[in-house]
Amino acid sequence: MATNRTFTMIKPDAVADGHIGNILKDIIAGGFKIVAMKYTKLSPEKAGEFYAVHAERPFYGELCEFMSSGPIVAAILEKDNAVADFRTLIGATNPAQAAEGTIRKKYAKSIGENAVHGSDSDENAAIESAFHFAGTEIFS
Ligand code: GDP
Repeated sequence: MATNRTFTMIKPDAVADGHIGNILKDIIAGGFKIVAMKYTKLSPEKAGEFYAVHAERPFYGELCEFMSSGPIVAAILEKDNAVADFRTLIGATNPAQAAEGTIRKKYAKSIGENAVHGSDSDENAAIESAFHFAGTEIFS
């Protein structure tokens, strides 16, 4: 089951810029089924916990500040090959390098404020999904 799911967040920049609807439309058009979703906000502590793997990176403080700066949309998505296909749909981390038509190319501002998160492995998709959702909040 975990292998056909990924986890995403529409980040505070894209929410503030009014892109929730367009991004969800792209996700659905990309063949993903939304099996869990919530509009929420991360505390700085929760953002730090979510991105703990990046704690040693120079941008960690900036990343945690940004991710707790406003509301986000968190969601679990289902599709065959979900993790890899979603990374293709969102494009490269830096929107300047993202392929035409990708979500980051269309909606992201910078390498830090890059509109969406997408899990990088099946293992992390499961961990990140459990971070945000209880089992009773997931509907497949
Ligand atoms: P992702 O898997 O494509 O999201 O990229 P990474 O796992 O490498 O980085 C996680 C997140 O940290 C990115 O999505 C960005 O929001 C942020 N980030 C990555 N590199 C930088 C950087 O050089 N500067 C800043 N400010 N943020 C960055």
